[in-house]
Amino acid sequence: MTGSLLVSEIFLSIQGESTFAGWPCTFVRLAGCDSTCNWCDTRYAADEEGRTMTITETAACVEAMKTPLVEITGGEPLQQESVYTLMGRLCDTGYTVLVETGGFLPVQKVDPRVHIIIDIKTPSSGVSEKNCIENIERTVANSDRPRENVEFKMVIASRRDYEWAREMLDRWDLTSCCTVLMGTVFDALPPSDLAAWILEDHLHVKLQLQQHKYIWPPDMRGV
Ligand code: SF4
Repeated sequence: MTGSLLVSEIFLSIQGESTFAGWPCTFVRLAGCDSTCNWCDTRYAADEEGRTMTITETAACVEAMKTPLVEITGGEPLQQESVYTLMGRLCDTGYTVLVETGGFLPVQKVDPRVHIIIDIKTPSSGVSEKNCIENIERTVANSDRPRENVEFKMVIASRRDYEWAREMLDRWDLTSCCTVLMGTVFDALPPSDLAAWILEDHLHVKLQLQQHKYIWPPDMRGV
């Protein structure tokens, strides 16, 4: 339905990822995702239909949470056409708006005021061939939005993933134009291994630890 969204949950938590990690944040988690990543930690949202909410109802829920920071996530939030209207509305209201996307859809239509966190899926995800390379090309070319409003995120489960990620960064010289976040698959690779590799290679990436998984039980929804 035009002007409405399929919402999995709206909740208040501590931002666990990105350069905004640690800040109180309202999360709008949209339902549905056509991707099938291994390691998906929000499969419940990817698979469910969600409840229908208008943009106005969604914005009112966000307002009730009383945080200046809002993240739209999923599922895959960019699958729903009305998400662009919601993001614009929240920016107009004065929120700092983040959107986290799985990286298989183009991001050109996202309001340039929104801070985008784009996954680059590594081989162990099983879907690395679906990465939307156009998002990388357009960021490098500085086409759509200020580069400081773009962060790429790579989740590493093995040494093979790490080497693949390092090659991608080299190929696009991505770390010289925007922030690249690198983290591990929780429970699959010790962060100390990834930290050692990053230091050894002098890689200019930001290690992130998914703070929410250290604060709350790993299988808890709405965090
Ligand atoms: S894109 Fe995100 S929500 Fe969709 S399957 Fe992959 S990790 Fe899960």
